Amino acid sequence: MRILIVEDELSIANFIREGLVEEGYAVDVADNGKKGLQLALDYLDEYDIILLDWMLPGLSGIEICRNIRKQNKDIPVIFLTAKDSVDDVVFGLETGADDYIRKPFSFEELLARIRVHMRKQESQPVIFSTADIEMNIDKHIVTKNGKNVDLTQKEFSLLEHFLRNKGKVCRRVGIIEKVWDIHFDYDTAVIDVYINALRKKLDEPGKQSLITTVRGVGYKIENKE
Ligand code: CA
Repeated sequence: MRILIVEDELSIANFIREGLVEEGYAVDVADNGKKGLQLALDYLDEYDIILLDWMLPGLSGIEICRNIRKQNKDIPVIFLTAKDSVDDVVFGLETGADDYIRKPFSFEELLARIRVHMRKQESQPVIFSTADIEMNIDKHIVTKNGKNVDLTQKEFSLLEHFLRNKGKVCRRVGIIEKVWDIHFDYDTAVIDVYINALRKKLDEPGKQSLITTVRGVGYKIENKE
């Protein structure tokens, strides 16, 4: 899951980013309107949600939202705003935002809103399974044969990406774009490190791995209901 934050107040941007990274999201931050719109349009298919400050240098959150909506009608957009008159809020929602949250807000409140909008967005179920593995996204639990498997946040995100695309090959670049943020230097060798860690936790010694390597392309998890 990857999130874009467009916010010029660095203390707020960092507070949100750190919290979301801890929750296992890949997070990009833009500190002005132009950079925000550029990132939004460059990675529109990769972002799962966009958090937009309202008052920004360069280009306002409203203008960014309008531009995003011209390209993509579905991606959830949440305004972070100190503006709280009813007119402003209605105007914000009319430009195509899905929700707004008033500053100051608690991280828990923001996280709850993000989860609500991601759930609405998902046409797929929040429980995925294949063979003896089951993943419950809402409860953040992975089990193998009914027993809990302890995964790091990044391992969890990676497994989620594979299970959401069960039966399809996940290309290495696609994995990076969905699970890591823009500061990642595209040394895709790190994927192999995480794949090895996942295999150690999920595979039976001596048996075929849950995650198949597709040489020169990427990885896949077979669809085994
Ligand atoms: Ca601002």
